[in-house]
Amino acid sequence: MTRENHTNTPLFQVALDVPLSTLFDYVVSKGMRVEIGQRVVVPFGRKEVVGIAMERVAESKLEAGRLKSIVRILDDMPPLPQELLVLLRFCSDYYHYPLGMVALSALPARLRDTAPFTAKQVLTYRLSAAGAALDLATLPKRRVVQQCILQTLRLGPRSGAQLRELSASAPAALKVLLEAGWVEAGTPPPRIAHVFKDAHALTDEQQQAVDAVTRQSGYGCFLLYGITGSGKTEVYVHLMHAMLQRGGQVLLLVPEINLTPQLEHYFRSRFPDVELVSLHSGLAEGKRAQNWLRAQSGEAGIVLGTRLAVFAPLPKLSLILVDEEHDASFKQQDGLRYSARDVAIFRANQRGVPIVLGSATPSLESWHNAQSGRYQLLKLTQRAVQPATLPLVRCLDISQLPLQEGLSEPLLSAIEARLQRKEQSLIFLNRRGYAPVLMCTACGWLSECKHCAGKLVLHLQDRTLRCHHCGFQQRVPQACPTCGDADLKPVGLGTQRLQETLQARFPQARILRVDRDSTRSKGAWSAMRKQIHDGEADILIGTQMLAKGHDFPNLTLVGVVSPDGALYSADFRASEKLFAQLTQVGGRAGRADKAGEVIVQTAFPNHPLFQALRAHDYESWVQTLLVERQMAGFPPFVYQALLSAEGKQANATYDFLQRARSMALELNLPVEIYGVVPAALPRRANHHRAQLLVQSEQRKSLQAFLHAWKPKLDTLAASKLRWALDIDPLEF
Ligand code: ADP
Ligand code: ZN
Ligand code: ZN
Repeated sequence: MTRENHTNTPLFQVALDVPLSTLFDYVVSKGMRVEIGQRVVVPFGRKEVVGIAMERVAESKLEAGRLKSIVRILDDMPPLPQELLVLLRFCSDYYHYPLGMVALSALPARLRDTAPFTAKQVLTYRLSAAGAALDLATLPKRRVVQQCILQTLRLGPRSGAQLRELSASAPAALKVLLEAGWVEAGTPPPRIAHVFKDAHALTDEQQQAVDAVTRQSGYGCFLLYGITGSGKTEVYVHLMHAMLQRGGQVLLLVPEINLTPQLEHYFRSRFPDVELVSLHSGLAEGKRAQNWLRAQSGEAGIVLGTRLAVFAPLPKLSLILVDEEHDASFKQQDGLRYSARDVAIFRANQRGVPIVLGSATPSLESWHNAQSGRYQLLKLTQRAVQPATLPLVRCLDISQLPLQEGLSEPLLSAIEARLQRKEQSLIFLNRRGYAPVLMCTACGWLSECKHCAGKLVLHLQDRTLRCHHCGFQQRVPQACPTCGDADLKPVGLGTQRLQETLQARFPQARILRVDRDSTRSKGAWSAMRKQIHDGEADILIGTQMLAKGHDFPNLTLVGVVSPDGALYSADFRASEKLFAQLTQVGGRAGRADKAGEVIVQTAFPNHPLFQALRAHDYESWVQTLLVERQMAGFPPFVYQALLSAEGKQANATYDFLQRARSMALELNLPVEIYGVVPAALPRRANHHRAQLLVQSEQRKSLQAFLHAWKPKLDTLAASKLRWALDIDPLEF
């Protein structure tokens, strides 16, 4: 065949989930019509795989004889919109990650399958003529749920999901009503007006924030800085209302998958007839694909999700909200290492719509952008519910106080006082397990992981030593493996040990431990949340899981034990994170009509971080940190990229990075190139880990350097190594 033939047969570049930075050329067979953005099935190697048709081209570099044809088109959904394809290209380009892998990883798993997806029809239920004429009083009183459904439908049609919110037995009751002919199902009629349950009159500050965003035409990035309990959620709700009224879709990103069910429920209660879908990795594959398609159809007015939702197609997108924008969970730590917050900002800019970043403790990056005028700052300085005020923060100097199993007497008596008043306490400790390490008192042996440069954590419940880095576990030894002495002691504090200590001290108290171990099973966390709300727990012990976004009205005491590690950590973001965490966890105390108290046990009560915490003075604290960062030449004053590598052989790992470094130096571009150093955890799962940092004061210079460097890295033979480039890294 000749070149000419190519121009006659349509030729497409297809994105495939393959670790190469190219697209793949395929021809279209006669009679097939492929559109850009469509999912297609193509032969690859010996398999057939799903790809996305990204571009139509005139000719291929491949010889005609080697070109293969697209097998079939998956026309189970409309093609991906151009806007999304542009977004995917941006991510590939900015994060220096293969376009095919970016594109395919943006799709829900079910849509990466070569079998077409049959979306479930979304039905709406409404009263039939007979149902509308029915006198509810004639129905037996005990048919509560049926009554409730009929009453709800009098207000207007509802979706199945909305009816399920009414009661667990709604589906059964609905079936009866359908059979009786009182309710009928149909496809939803298109509609703009929606019901809005306007619960509160906004405070002046809230109103100003809402006005600023709704007045914005086109792109604008707003930083909504509001103290805990200031009613940021209420601002989101009013903004959603405004955008829904204009016929738009709103995307709300939240950091934590655990928060989505509650929020979903809450927003449904405020917008009872708006279609709301959630997108997160906890959903079953079919459900996630279904929700994604509802977003793509434009029918879902509100899309609520974790970071992956930033890639949902949203034809009517008119506003993006990023709640707890400072949270590190927005950054993906493997594969495409994107920051969903930053991608969301790009997306809002590209679409020409406003974006709101909300937080009580904005990230230094965002605060800096607000100060430089790149973002507009909106402040909520008061708690929304009067007389709720910010909790009183006290620091206990543990260098002066004796501790029993890590707890000081004043903290214990504060807990006791809450028990007497039937109020709840929360003890915050960011370390799960019983104790961080087991030690031999005779020879000083420490339980270390054979496979990592870390310690094995003692878990007493199942008498194991576990590595939190690689998952290795072994039974607790009877005697010291080195000297044979039987006197092995747990050192340090974990949540399980804290629970044991508190239970011994307060035998009557109902203690609930909330960490990754106790919430592993499905539904465990929502059951616990209910227990807390129903007042069936007196003392909560928790890691950061408990700190995020939950509202427990009867909680009046927060105790923070052993936060000091972060003050002198090698991670330059550790103190920023600690302040955010303590503000957030402190914000759980005294939300309703009861005053709250936060007690922090620390050996450094005069540290500026604790001074700022006591004064609830985020602004001066962030100013202190910014000055420090500027002097030290850290972000947000520089932009960073981290090349990390790990392999079984330390030599090969370091050698790879050294060669990468030489190549970087040869480019002779205006960036700072650091030396090759061990990672914070130098060995994990028998792999040696090291890294190389590159930075620049200009994002553009860094990107130009990376564009020159990445193709060279790809040529380095590193078959037994894993390596990755992390742009704007949060973890080192
Ligand atoms: P944040 O997200 O800023 O921590 P929330 O949005 O959770 O705060 O609001 C805290 C509490 O204040 C909630 O119980 C909410 O219902 C209530 N609230 C918010 N705005 C108002 C308002 N304008 N008037 C009365 N109560 C409000
Ligand atoms: Zn020993
Ligand atoms: Zn390990």
